[in-house]
Amino acid sequence: MELGLEQSGAGCAKTLQDELTCPICLDYFKDPVSLDCDHNFCRACITQCWGGIPVSCPQCRETVQERNLRLNRQLANMVEIANRLSLQAYEPSWYRRSYNKINDLAVW
Ligand SMILES: [Zn+2]
Ligand SMILES: [Zn+2]
Repeated sequence: MELGLEQSGAGCAKTLQDELTCPICLDYFKDPVSLDCDHNFCRACITQCWGGIPVSCPQCRETVQERNLRLNRQLANMVEIANRLSLQAYEPSWYRRSYNKINDLAVW
């Protein structure tokens, strides 16, 4: 049932949740880093996945240079905000509220 997702804003909330979730541990990013291909992973997850030696992006298989790993500070901030909000109230609608709050915070 994907009718009206775009209009209702639920699509946005889903996107936010996806963007804050590490594809390896399926939890919120911890110390998120971006690869050359713009995929994001927890630093610990990607390091463990590679066994210490950078190989390729687990998602798109693009070759990766370790020195090109960069901390995704904006993503880290969003995760921190989402974590704080989820501690206050974890319920089905919290994603939408936190999305709005994150938008507010991102503006300033
Ligand atoms: Zn992870
Ligand atoms: Zn990738």
